[in-house]
Amino acid sequence: MTALLIKNALVVTLDDAGTILPNGQILVEGSKISAVGPSVKAPAGAQVVDAEGMVAIPGLINAHHHFYSSFARGFAPPGEPASNFVEILQRMWWKLDLALDPEAVRYSSLVALLEAIHTGCTTVIDHHASPSCTDGSLDIMEETFRQAGLSGCLCYETSDRNVPADGVAENTRFIKKMKAAPDGQVTALFGLHAQMTLSDTTLEATARVCNETKTGVHIHVAEDLSDETDCIAKHGSRIIQRLHKFGLTGKNSLFIHGIHLDESEMDLIAQTGTMMVHNPESNMNNAVGTQKMLTLLKKGILLGLGTDGMTSHMISAARVAHLLQRATLADPRVAFCEACDMLLSRNAQIAARCFPDRRGQLAPGQLADIAIFDYVPTTPLEPGRFLGHLLYGLNVARVHTTIARGRVLMRNSKILTLDEKEIGAKARESARATWARFK
Ligand SMILES: [Zn+2]
Repeated sequence: MTALLIKNALVVTLDDAGTILPNGQILVEGSKISAVGPSVKAPAGAQVVDAEGMVAIPGLINAHHHFYSSFARGFAPPGEPASNFVEILQRMWWKLDLALDPEAVRYSSLVALLEAIHTGCTTVIDHHASPSCTDGSLDIMEETFRQAGLSGCLCYETSDRNVPADGVAENTRFIKKMKAAPDGQVTALFGLHAQMTLSDTTLEATARVCNETKTGVHIHVAEDLSDETDCIAKHGSRIIQRLHKFGLTGKNSLFIHGIHLDESEMDLIAQTGTMMVHNPESNMNNAVGTQKMLTLLKKGILLGLGTDGMTSHMISAARVAHLLQRATLADPRVAFCEACDMLLSRNAQIAARCFPDRRGQLAPGQLADIAIFDYVPTTPLEPGRFLGHLLYGLNVARVHTTIARGRVLMRNSKILTLDEKEIGAKARESARATWARFK
């Protein structure tokens, strides 16, 4: 078994006691952390990472991403700019995803993985759509995760918007494949776009597969008010009640956004233990409103944080979540601790339901997912003071080393598992070809 010793680091363990070691050591054996302390005993021949002048924290987790969004950077759809959320979907995303081919799926994914590694993110829950090449698209993404070294929970965005039940077969096949995969590096949920593009027949088919495979769904809910009004008009029910009727709520399911939920829907999510994810930067960008993050937390809902394809930078997502609540509520006392807790603790709890291995702490037995930042604190960094450094220091610090599942993915900001230059060149080519197919 390969061993790796990280020494001389300021170690922020995020363990239950909130331990911070000013000059600590972390021993990694195989894919797990085996010891953490001021001084640990390493086996002979262990690889050493000297983290002098650096801060080590658990690898970050992104609870909702769309890797294919990488190819939207610098692209503006032709015609008038979209003036509301439905137009944003129709004029931009539903055309861009149709233009993706297998090459574009691969390179948009690799680009996002590079960014995740550079920002210290080691686990991503992704929601994928490529309706011109649905079948096998999740295998391409799986390959990129294994090549890069990150953990990924993948799904395909089932929708009836192009052809009925597109994605049901791909999700079903991939869920079964991942259930049989022994290492837990890549896992699966059943992906659904949003209730407004899903028929009762497709939801029934989804529920059958979820029951049979004991898998939850990963779906956008009430992102825009139009999703609720559509549901009420077509089905005489609000969104969460409609999904609950098909048995799609529950501890294994992940509901995204929920900006326009009413009290009864929030209560139903809380009662069923359904997980939720907040994506503040995306919500601001799409001008769909502000999630009632603090209300959802008060109801006891397991609410995490994601980027929804905007970026792969998780500390930025937490910082924006905190600032957005303060601006919206006109209250400078709120949301700082909550936003940090969502990133550091709640995303780890969500990951614990989506993957077999525990992560989110630098402690023995945890998955060896570690982000080491080039950061010398200029004010004391000690127990009770870390969160200020996280949102107002580490957010702009360079990540020096990223380790995932015990493997060093990046050292001195150089990615070791992927050829960044080659991926950049091929991604630019593939993005240009994708844009040329956009119509
Ligand atoms: Zn999304």
